[in-house]
Amino acid sequence: MTLASDLTSPSTEPSVIVVTEGSRQHEASSDDNESSSWNGLVSPAEGGVWPRPVPQRSIAEERLHRRRKLAGAYRIFAKLGLAEGLSGHITARDPELPDHFWVNRFGLDFSRITVSNLLLVNSQGKIVEGQPPLNTSAFAIHSRIHAARPDVIGAAHTHSPYGRALAALGEPLHPISQDVCSFYQHQAVFGEYNGAVVTEDEGQKIADALGPHKLVILRNHGLLTVGASVEAAAYRFIAAERAAHTQLVAAAAGPLRLLDHRTASYTAGQGGRDNDGARWAFDALYEIIVEEQPDLLD
Ligand SMILES: [Zn+2]
Repeated sequence: MTLASDLTSPSTEPSVIVVTEGSRQHEASSDDNESSSWNGLVSPAEGGVWPRPVPQRSIAEERLHRRRKLAGAYRIFAKLGLAEGLSGHITARDPELPDHFWVNRFGLDFSRITVSNLLLVNSQGKIVEGQPPLNTSAFAIHSRIHAARPDVIGAAHTHSPYGRALAALGEPLHPISQDVCSFYQHQAVFGEYNGAVVTEDEGQKIADALGPHKLVILRNHGLLTVGASVEAAAYRFIAAERAAHTQLVAAAAGPLRLLDHRTASYTAGQGGRDNDGARWAFDALYEIIVEEQPDLLD
């Protein structure tokens, strides 16, 4: 049973007109070492340094940093309309206890999440800090992803509108614009849906489908993104949601003009794949949300 599509042959669903882009293969390499290509986009004359240095932090400082960014991510998702009812979860791996992660309390609207009402959950699904309840699906999915991908610090999944629409088609994101090239050959499609995810076995299927990638499109369900930081995972989700929107609008208007493999790869290599680029993009949004909603830091 193949769970992850390698996206080699876009379908021709009647509702979406797609130009065949030919055979491609996934690159097995991680995107973590591609940041040097950003040098061309950051002007040295303006004092540009890339990648931006990450300050040294103690365990306690790093934990607080991740919790703040996580609470900020929930607020940003709420502001952008990416949440749906009780569904959705963004997680941050704990810096001291790597098999534990921080997550939202089930039933608390994303717009009400703060640093202090996040839950710390262990590898058995027990809440070791914070007030219950815990979303069963959050544990079933994220525990398997954090276990399968030691490089992943943050993971994001919600039932966002355009992500769901794309997932309904079972389509990948096609290389049709500069922005979406960040996902070129770094995405997968989980090609089955078996109801709400409440078991670790089903979560493991999603982790397997994600593989080494940054995005997995869960058919008939929604999007899930990961990153080497909470910031990267969250921004990638926002970017994937917008890319899904763009693709659906463009496909409804006419045949898509796909970038060729060489151009899409080159554009992706200019920094769009990079964890640091996504982190920087998130921080621009985080700065605003903290100004607008400073209580998220409570
Ligand atoms: Zn879901």
